[in-house]
Amino acid sequence: MLCTNCHKHYADDLMRCPSCGQPTATSWDILATAYPPQDDIIKSLLESCGIPVILRSREGIGRVQGLSIGPLAEVRVMVPRDRLSEAIELLAAADAQGPPERDKSRD
Ligand SMILES: [Zn+2]
Repeated sequence: MLCTNCHKHYADDLMRCPSCGQPTATSWDILATAYPPQDDIIKSLLESCGIPVILRSREGIGRVQGLSIGPLAEVRVMVPRDRLSEAIELLAAADAQGPPERDKSRD
């Protein structure tokens, strides 16, 4: 991420520049809330379609303590606002398809 104000580089998952406080040019919207490992699955799905994804865990505590259930493990899946509808469609399509292995075992 490049700050539009002071032109310093900083981590993509920050909402504003740590140097000058300038908000990022991209507005991020919450696409969904998920629990590990679902968050990573959603992230790789969207990124494979060229949509940037930010995963924000609540205070980051869940991952550190190895918790995978409960409110502390909840992860907010965020996408750029202008890609939100596209991301929703991709998620819906993925849900409708289901795991590809299932179709084969049905025969
Ligand atoms: Zn800045």
